[in-house]
Amino acid sequence: MNQFNYIRPSKQQAAIDAVAKDGNAKFIAGGTNLVDLMKRGVMAPQKLVDINRLPLTKIERQGNALRIGALALNSTVADDRQVRERQPLLVQAINAGASAQLRNMATTGGNMLQRTRCPYFYDTAMPCNKREPGTGCGALEGINRMHAIFGFSDKCIAVHPSDMSVALVALDATVLVSGPKGDRRIPFTDLHRLPGDAPEKDTTLEPGELITAVDVPDGPFTKHVSYYKVRERASYAFALVSAAAALDLDGTTIKSARLAFGSVAHKPWRLTAAEQMLVGKPATEETFRQAAAVAMQGAKAFKHNEYKLKLAPNTLIQALKTAAAA
Ligand SMILES: Cc1cc2nc3c(=O)[nH]c(=O)nc-3n(C[C@H](O)[C@H](O)[C@H](O)COP(=O)(O)OP(=O)(O)OC[C@H]3O[C@@H](n4cnc5c(N)ncnc54)[C@H](O)[C@@H]3O)c2cc1C
Repeated sequence: MNQFNYIRPSKQQAAIDAVAKDGNAKFIAGGTNLVDLMKRGVMAPQKLVDINRLPLTKIERQGNALRIGALALNSTVADDRQVRERQPLLVQAINAGASAQLRNMATTGGNMLQRTRCPYFYDTAMPCNKREPGTGCGALEGINRMHAIFGFSDKCIAVHPSDMSVALVALDATVLVSGPKGDRRIPFTDLHRLPGDAPEKDTTLEPGELITAVDVPDGPFTKHVSYYKVRERASYAFALVSAAAALDLDGTTIKSARLAFGSVAHKPWRLTAAEQMLVGKPATEETFRQAAAVAMQGAKAFKHNEYKLKLAPNTLIQALKTAAAA
């Protein structure tokens, strides 16, 4: 491992300044992703700014939303009474991720900003435009089983691996950010970006911007929800495809719906056209099949991930059936 400096400021502004003024500095929270990447030589920050002394662990009501601090642990969020009552989809998504030990270390902010699990990003002997811009994309013509079917570019076909983020995008969450130019709010759907010509940029965050919290608005999605994750092992594995589904039902009629796919694109993939199609329809398997067909419009596979063109709609149908029956 390379040498690096380590600081642990107790003031938010000091942490922001430390990263904003040094292009080689990174925030570190639980460290479960960043330290792995440093050990493998994928990332080599020269300074780590540990944010664990900042007061960002609270989960509290804020107007019509639950505000979850960026340092609230994944396990704390999933066990929180208010989150369980108001946002069961988020609880299911968090508990589908990683292992209990990891969720005891992983933070809300760190989870959103974890980096792709594309094997070409992790293997420093291989080309990867995300790790080293301009070197090419090893996955394009390589082994691309786990890769994107939506929103990719010829520079990068990696997917975003976070389960929690799939629920947050479906639930219309907003990310609270503090940076060198002040505070701002980012709709969750705009936090992560598509690769385009600059796959090295995962998000729309500016240098030195610190995530301080996420607001999850109250909604009617407290009962008929499902986070359905398909993976190669029953636990401790990233998704091949996942689907988040939340329904507001009036008897068997769908009043409104929130839907998203995970592990199909460079960002959590919100399915607004399919949501709109569901409104006013009966909550039947036939309706869910139609919604899945809408959700898959524009999907395109590579040599080894054609199975996702079948797996993704079936995962969404299963999530919708489970949500309706909940
Ligand atoms: C074996 C294994 C299996 C896993 N399986 C899954 C899985 O199935 N599903 C899943 O979703 N995840 C999975 N994970 C990933 C895990 O959820 C993430 O590693 C974790 O959530 C990252 O959170 P952290 O606090 O440790 O982040 P860190 O490692 O501390 O940070 C990650 C990134 O976020 C930045 N950062 C952290 N906090 C902030 C902040 N507040 N503001 C700005 N930048 C910040 C850091 O600079 C860094 O770039 C797995 C991990 C491992 C090791």
